[in-house]
Amino acid sequence: MILLNKFNTKKIIIILIIALFITATVITTINILKTIEYNKILQTAEGYFNNAEYDNSVEQLQIILKGDGGHKKATELLLQIQEVFLVSADSFIDKNNYISGIELYNKALLLNQNKDIQTKLDNTLKKLEIPKIFIGDTPLAADIFINNQFKSLSLNKLPLYSDISAPAQTHQYEQGSILRIKLIFPEALAHYSISLLDSNNNAICSSSGFKIDTRDNFEYWYAFIGLSCKISPGTYKLTGEGLYLSGDTVNFTAEIDIIKYDFPTETIYLNKTLTALLTEPSPEKTQERRYLCNLISQSNPNSIFEIDNFILPLSEFPRSTTFGDRCTYVYSNGSDYTSVHRGIDFAAPEGIPIEAMGSGKVVMAVNRILTGYTIVIEHLPGVYSIYYHLSELLVQEDDIVGIGEIVGKVGNTGLSTGAHLHLALYVSGEYVNPEYFVLNKAMLYDF
Ligand SMILES: [Zn+2]
Repeated sequence: MILLNKFNTKKIIIILIIALFITATVITTINILKTIEYNKILQTAEGYFNNAEYDNSVEQLQIILKGDGGHKKATELLLQIQEVFLVSADSFIDKNNYISGIELYNKALLLNQNKDIQTKLDNTLKKLEIPKIFIGDTPLAADIFINNQFKSLSLNKLPLYSDISAPAQTHQYEQGSILRIKLIFPEALAHYSISLLDSNNNAICSSSGFKIDTRDNFEYWYAFIGLSCKISPGTYKLTGEGLYLSGDTVNFTAEIDIIKYDFPTETIYLNKTLTALLTEPSPEKTQERRYLCNLISQSNPNSIFEIDNFILPLSEFPRSTTFGDRCTYVYSNGSDYTSVHRGIDFAAPEGIPIEAMGSGKVVMAVNRILTGYTIVIEHLPGVYSIYYHLSELLVQEDDIVGIGEIVGKVGNTGLSTGAHLHLALYVSGEYVNPEYFVLNKAMLYDF
């Protein structure tokens, strides 16, 4: 009996040891797997943190956890993130009370508030499905599909990075200026368009984005919005909509304040001939205007000729009329008419060579009634430079020109009261101040 008991006890002990070993192995394996999953997510999140040119002035990485189940997982994720980033964290509920999230502050250290966070998360995170990662207000495009466990990280719903900027000369969005929208997408995009909306959500102008680079499967896109010099100052909304080749949609929204710019006024006296040129009805003039308008309203996604910088075509000569001037034309009979000057006039002697503002394709080189010998160069999708009143054209339509290449000579043709160059820049359907594209590398390639 004693032997038998001893034998049974031994057996039981061995079985217990084996069971314990199996249990320990299983638990360890689960923990290792969990760690691997967490590490994968955290490394990816951290990677994007850096990739997105994370700037210390934006001090938060925001993770929004939305959906069904798994609030404990969310808490675990939070704790893991806290360990990795050494950050403090807090949770919040949005207005609709169905999204919960965590804001992580980069500089502040964790202040042992785990229990607090756990309670908050327990109360707020009912379900867990598709979290989105933000830097500041910028969505970081991370979708972590969680179905009671962390499974995978797919980056395809939102731009990875977005930035809206004004020309370096102004640092603000003013009448007659340009908005540049810079976007990075985590996968190939079919198209992207951006609209400027007024307070009633009506689109004032829209612009097609265009791809400027691909690096490590990330796509770098630009879009420009030209702000009319007549746009009312105030708050406007920007909305972006795109479609990935995979079929998923990608969106973003932002708000901007457009401020007033004080444009100067000027009076120009016209003789009989010039009065007739401006005032006499002419189907040919109408046709010429329509043709030009249609031409420069086009945005060809493959027309990327200039991604570095623009120059002024006659930098050494004084400006006789600046952009946006309210010009009053006094006719030979004494009556007048006021219009906005949608370009810059350079006073220069006839015959002075005119340089292309940037590399591009000549899309127009003709003689027109009002603008005389005229050249239009397409530089980027929806971005055109326009040169009026030339004495001579030195390029032809469809010519590809380099930046600074001589395209024509200063003249006094068309509706002109003396030798000068009228230079205009047309961006996404609006005439804007051409100087804002000049000596402004940041407007272009600064990814
Ligand atoms: Zn002019």
